[in-house]
Amino acid sequence: MADIVLLGPPGSGKGTQAQLLLDSQPNLAHLSTGNILREAVKSSTKLGLEVKSLLDKGQLVSDELVNSLVFEWVNNHASKDILFDGFPRTGTQALAFHDFMQANNRAYKVIELDVPESELLDRIRKRCTCASCGYVDKVSDLKESKNNWVCPSCGSQEIVVRSDDREDIVKDRFLVYNSEVRSLREHLCGSFGGCFRINGVQEASKVYQDILDALEQVK
Ligand code: AMP
Repeated sequence: MADIVLLGPPGSGKGTQAQLLLDSQPNLAHLSTGNILREAVKSSTKLGLEVKSLLDKGQLVSDELVNSLVFEWVNNHASKDILFDGFPRTGTQALAFHDFMQANNRAYKVIELDVPESELLDRIRKRCTCASCGYVDKVSDLKESKNNWVCPSCGSQEIVVRSDDREDIVKDRFLVYNSEVRSLREHLCGSFGGCFRINGVQEASKVYQDILDALEQVK
């Protein structure tokens, strides 16, 4: 298996699909820049204090900072296949990423989850997150078990709505995504055939199967 870049707007199901892939591919390591940055904010590290206000507003952290964080992370996990989730996110990051991957002889495939904006908003309105590990769940599921919810991923009982899942901020996050996605596709998909758009408006298991089928197409 090669490295995988998972692209898609907020709410498109990247987290869910990342988890399904990780559960079935033992050599796959998950690099979620959003999770790393949220964790830094939560622990009030120097990095966290630097990026907190940007995350709260749904704005992007600088390319320079994210690139160096990611490249160091990859170097520390060099023996693994890597699932890139939330990175690259801008044309500048994609260019630096492509060069870095080539220089390190790492092949990658790109999976883009396609979901219309009306559906994305509806999903985000309904979702909440485990404060401890970032696992995402539906509010409707939580209502049934509000007092005894236990995160299926880490066992924490602390549920939150992400500060950047507020509707006005989500709309800004869509704008940011839409302004960058074309150049992302150009830089990541222009030079080879391992780029796939998957219909993200299906049962999660069907989306997952489509991803596996796509990954099979390019060895
Ligand atoms: P996510 O969980 O991927 O939606 O990321 C949450 C937030 O982390 C984003 O709204 C940005 O503020 C920041 N972030 C995550 N990944 C990146 C990235 N590749 N470049 C810049 N900022 C990022």
